[in-house]
Amino acid sequence: MKSEHYDLIAIGAGSAARDGANKAAKDYGAKVALIEAEHWGGSCPNVACVPTKAYLVAAGLAHSINTLANERGIEVGPATTNLAKVKAWKDSLKKPQQKWVESLHAAGFDTYEGTASFVDPHTVRVGDAELNADKILIATGSRTAVPPIEGIEEIDWVDHVSALEIEELPERLLVCGAGPVGLEFGQAFSRFGSNVTIVDAVDEIAPHTDHHAAMELREALTDEGIPIILGSFVTKLAAREGGNVATITPREGGMEQEVEFDCFLVASGLLKFLESSGLLRLLSRSGSDSARAMLGLCKDRNRFASPSATRKSGFWSCWRKLASWSNVRSVSSFTIASHVSVCRSACTLVSPTATSFASICGAE
Ligand SMILES: Cc1cc2nc3c(=O)[nH]c(=O)nc-3n(C[C@H](O)[C@H](O)[C@H](O)COP(=O)(O)OP(=O)(O)OC[C@H]3O[C@@H](n4cnc5c(N)ncnc54)[C@H](O)[C@@H]3O)c2cc1C
Repeated sequence: MKSEHYDLIAIGAGSAARDGANKAAKDYGAKVALIEAEHWGGSCPNVACVPTKAYLVAAGLAHSINTLANERGIEVGPATTNLAKVKAWKDSLKKPQQKWVESLHAAGFDTYEGTASFVDPHTVRVGDAELNADKILIATGSRTAVPPIEGIEEIDWVDHVSALEIEELPERLLVCGAGPVGLEFGQAFSRFGSNVTIVDAVDEIAPHTDHHAAMELREALTDEGIPIILGSFVTKLAAREGGNVATITPREGGMEQEVEFDCFLVASGLLKFLESSGLLRLLSRSGSDSARAMLGLCKDRNRFASPSATRKSGFWSCWRKLASWSNVRSVSSFTIASHVSVCRSACTLVSPTATSFASICGAE
């Protein structure tokens, strides 16, 4: 078994890991290794920021043709979208995986491909290598939080990753979540030609952004023909012949309504992705206070991810609590490292729950 020692090991190779690695190497001359299980570069360039912006650019073109071209004397027919071709263009913009590895090597880092798992607080195993380090940066990103909706297991829902793989435009897209992810996909697919409805329990879209900007954006989206149902939960999903049906229930009670859909996009939040590295197992064996606190967080978050575990009535308060908690945590409380201070994700748009879990393990 190959064995190697580093000053810092980063688990994950997304924005947070690369920030941490760069800082450790530049400011402290640290010997650094990055371990990546799935895509070098992490989510942002592969399945998040970049591909969704590509969809918005393509959708913006279709929208301009459909709304402005005629008026400005450009004679074209209505724009229709070949989603398979848009997807192919979006895929062509991705930096190849080999190029990522080359640039990490050029920056002086060692790279290991595979899923890292903790052996002890200073050692991780990846493939046939056992690596140990003074500090280990857990920058394993996030995964979709599946909301507790009755019947969700009966339908083929998509999230921001699988939605980018769809090749046939859905006629009716129901988006659960009016944060940046739901709004981006909602607007792009609407401009591509789907009938989009967006539902969220909040009173205003994009609740973590400037209120006036959010209002402007909601009005613009409504003007474009996207119904936005706020203050309401999607409480039930049912597969029916000729189309699926969602039950929408007002948060404060009142008349329920039904919305038909062909495709259901879960854009209601992300959870920190901690299971993959075996961190939870490691923490549960540790007796320290901060390990116990961290384990409490992980368990809370994972409970929230379970569709049956959170009662509908408690859903909203649970969500708010976790969102604000996560914000605080990701900015300061977890910086228990001595030589890499704050390591934050590149997330500027997405709700706090989407920010990365970037912390140093084993600093006590
Ligand atoms: C649809 C969408 C659009 C977005 N648009 C924007 C935007 O326009 N601007 C912006 O600033 N932010 C945007 N974001 C947010 C941004 O993508 C994230 O904040 C950022 O990618 C988080 O980086 P990270 O390094 O924490 O995690 P990630 O980039 O997800 O990296 C984590 C990596 O860890 C790897 N990993 C996990 N477990 C292991 C393991 N055990 N061993 C080895 N590797 C492992 C994963 O494979 C993954 O590659 C968007 C997010 C979404 C979902």
